Amino acid sequence: MKIHVLTLFPDMFTNFLQESMVGIALKQKAIEVNLIDIRDFAHDKHRTTDDYPYGGGAGMVMKPEPLYEAILFAKQGKEIPVIYFTPQGKLLKQPTVFEYSKIDELIILCGRYKEIDQRIRDTLVTVEFSIGDYVLSGGEIPAMVFIDAVARLQKGVLGDIDSALTDSHQNGILGCPHYTRPPEFNGLKVPDVLISGNHKKIEEWRAEKALEITRKNRPDLLGNDE
Ligand code: SAH
Repeated sequence: MKIHVLTLFPDMFTNFLQESMVGIALKQKAIEVNLIDIRDFAHDKHRTTDDYPYGGGAGMVMKPEPLYEAILFAKQGKEIPVIYFTPQGKLLKQPTVFEYSKIDELIILCGRYKEIDQRIRDTLVTVEFSIGDYVLSGGEIPAMVFIDAVARLQKGVLGDIDSALTDSHQNGILGCPHYTRPPEFNGLKVPDVLISGNHKKIEEWRAEKALEITRKNRPDLLGNDE
């Protein structure tokens, strides 16, 4: 899977792309990330990428020309989806992540400042996603969220793909509690069922706990809005 990231701050990705699961995915060539500096497509002396908004108001708007050129450069004439992260997009959820993890090549456009020029959104962006109902100062962290989420689903990245398949949101509910050694810590014991060796009982306990946590923290996932 090849991901082109268009950003004004490519250095933000340096450590992120080296560590842990994403680092492994890159080393195994399960994913490839091509960082493209939008500023390289600004042609004036000051390499300007933003300007004042038409109609006035606070904040700067990313100019369309460098974005246009950067996207065309990343596309190389191919039909590749362009994802723009924005709080106005559809909420990114695990089934969508799963779907996108199977795509061979895509472009992520990271916005900054007040907004990017609407004409780029209207003509070159394929889909808009939000990572949650809050506002960040740029699309770089959402891009990292997306890269991490798709990288761990690539074949051979997680030691055991079952690990991803039993995580929260994979089956529409949240995950269950987990324990490791020692069997007793600060007077707190691991639930007996987990050391019982009875796999059927363990599965039942985990399913029950997952439902309990979902009911408590995310009743909306079960179709209840309370
Ligand atoms: N004026 C915009 C917010 C701009 S925030 C609005 O009202 O919707 C600056 C940039 O950060 C955005 O262009 C977007 O790329 C990114 N961003 C901020 N919050 C985000 C979120 N919750 N999800 C995805 N991208 C986000």
